[in-house]
Formats: sequence, structure tokens, C-alpha cells
Amino acid sequence: MAEKIKIAQYWGAGCGGCDVALLDIDAKILDVHAIADVVFWPIGFDGKLHEVEAMPDKSITVSFYNGAIRNSENEHIAKVLREKSVVLIAFGSCACFGGTPGLANVTNRDEVFKTVYGTESTDNPKGIAPQPHVKVPEGELELPTFYDTVKTLDEVVDVDYFMPGCPPTVNLIAMAVDAVAKHVTEGAPLPPKGTVIASDKTLCDECPRERVEKDRRIERIYQSYEIKADPKKCLLDQGIICIGPATRAGCGAMCPKANMPCRGCMGPTKAVMDQGGSMLSALSSLLNITDSESKLSEEQIMELMLQVKDPLGTFYAFTLPKSLLKRTVTERRKKKQG
Ligand code: SF4
Ligand code: SF4
Ligand code: SF4
Repeated sequence: MAEKIKIAQYWGAGCGGCDVALLDIDAKILDVHAIADVVFWPIGFDGKLHEVEAMPDKSITVSFYNGAIRNSENEHIAKVLREKSVVLIAFGSCACFGGTPGLANVTNRDEVFKTVYGTESTDNPKGIAPQPHVKVPEGELELPTFYDTVKTLDEVVDVDYFMPGCPPTVNLIAMAVDAVAKHVTEGAPLPPKGTVIASDKTLCDECPRERVEKDRRIERIYQSYEIKADPKKCLLDQGIICIGPATRAGCGAMCPKANMPCRGCMGPTKAVMDQGGSMLSALSSLLNITDSESKLSEEQIMELMLQVKDPLGTFYAFTLPKSLLKRTVTERRKKKQG
């Protein structure tokens, strides 16, 4: 039997769901086992980083990196895995777009620390916050440096493939495993660099709900708990914000199928740069705000838009670090304070 390939999986700033997702592929995991040895997977076993650092460059065939880049350790390991791997996959929305940790880009490190170790801490009266270097009688302790800004994986290293999803679905993982297995066993070519392992369509294209085709209009916005949604009709047509029009397909529209609006975890479609901006524009036209014939006054527009609770969390739940906004909110706030 041919020598097994080596694979690695690392958890940066994320929740661990992506690590579990890899196990969800059930029997497909045997395909992975048949062709690969896992050489580094901190959540799975006690592999040592220095052992990976000592490996020859490009000796790991595929590394799956999940989680965003929140601190210096995340960045260091991303760089090590990049150097040691032939293929590096940004696995999950946090690695691809910053994900939910990326929402912290509306603030900065000082304010995060003030909240976590100060105002919200229940047992830290002196507000002691972690320091990168601390001297103790036994020597100096070192912690990773917490960054001001959450970054995506491709902001710190070159990425070969992107697999979005929070976490990526079993079918997408299985697709990637198949592609790698065929490449290793049959010499089949890998997809072009930069490929997003998902669909090029929008989520609405794979959603079974019926949409209004002509003159789509909504009068007001509802939270999903405020109305009993018709299970067959498009949620957006019923006034519930569903990010489907601005979201890449590939998950099988699992949330709308379960009567829940899409939150956009697959990220923007191929055609748009900014998922939140694209959704905002779709919503504005549904609300008759952008239409040149709109007769709405500024007050009426304001009233409609105020129905969107938590706009940033609604439109940029997974993609703030990758958006055109990035962290301008803080910049503006700093200017105001200055
Ligand atoms: S993409 Fe979702 S499941 Fe994966 S680490 Fe981020 S928050 Fe967790
Ligand atoms: S907006 Fe949501 S519910 Fe409507 S078709 Fe698109 S994905 Fe389905
Ligand atoms: S429906 Fe939307 S939020 Fe739900 S899994 Fe698919 S992309 Fe993610």
C-alpha cells in the first residue's frame, strides 16, 4: 500500500464546532483514515507544535484551519501550517470571513478586556487582565498577544481553498475529502487555487420556498417569533429578514427548510464583495426605499429601518472582517472621542 499522506487540523479563534464537524462525516472518516495520518490536531490528541515545526516544508498534504486569527498564536500556527502544507484550506466561516468572533471588530482590545475582565467579571475586583509576559518566581510566563482586530486566515497567509459554513456541512466536507482522496490515489487534478468549496448559486436558488416573482414588496419587518410564518412561502416575502439573497448556496438551505431565516453563514455569493451591503440593498428595494418612485419620507424610511434589530449582527453576523466596513465603526468612534 502507498505511503499515507499527512493531514493537520487546527482550531484558531472559533467555537470548536468545526472540529466536531469533521467527525460528523461518519463512515467517510474511514476514507480519511485509509489514505491519511493525522499529524497535528490539538483538540483531538496531544500533538506538539515543535514536532510540526521540525517537519520538512510541504510534508503535510492538507491542513484544515478553522477559526479566525485573534491572537499571535493563531497567526504563528497559520504560518507554520502554511509552510509545512501543500494545501491549506480555510475551514468554516471564521477562517474564511472572520465569523462570529469577527463581530468584535466593532470594538478594540482595550474595550474587550475592560468588559471581560472588568465590568462583566464577577470575581476580579482589581480588573486584572492577561499580559503577554509576566514574571513569576519560577521565570517568565508567556501568553499569546491578543490583537486589536480579528483577521481572516487569508489576511495572514496564502490560502488554497475556502470551505464556508458554520460549520461546513457534511456534504461539503465529503466533497473535499473525495477530491483529495482521488488526487492522492488516482492522480486526479485538484480544483483551481482559490476555489470556494460550495455552490456558485445563491441560497434562494436552492431554497424550496415559493417566492413572489413580480412586484415584491413588504410593508414591515418582523422578528421570527412575532409571526407564525407560512412554511411554504419565502420568509423574506413574509417580512422576516432572511439573508438568502446575499448568501452562497451549498448548505441545502437547511435553515429555511426548518422554518428559520438564513443568517448568512455561507458568506457572500461569487457576484458580491460585501454580503451585508448586498442584503441591505435587497431589503431596501423590497421595502420600497430605493425605488426612484418611492414616496416615503425620511421619517418613514427611518421608522422602517429601525425595525431591523441589531443591524450589524443581522447583516454581518459572519463576515464583518471581510466586509468593506471591516472596523470603521471604531475608527469613527475614536475620531469622535479624539
Ligand atoms: S465557523 Fe462556526 S462552527 Fe466553525 S469555529 Fe467558527 S463559530 Fe464555530
Ligand atoms: S429569502 Fe430565504 S426563505 Fe426566501 S427564498 Fe431566499 S432563502 Fe428561501
Ligand atoms: S441556511 Fe444560511 S445560516 Fe443556515 S446553514 Fe445555510 S447559509 Fe448557514
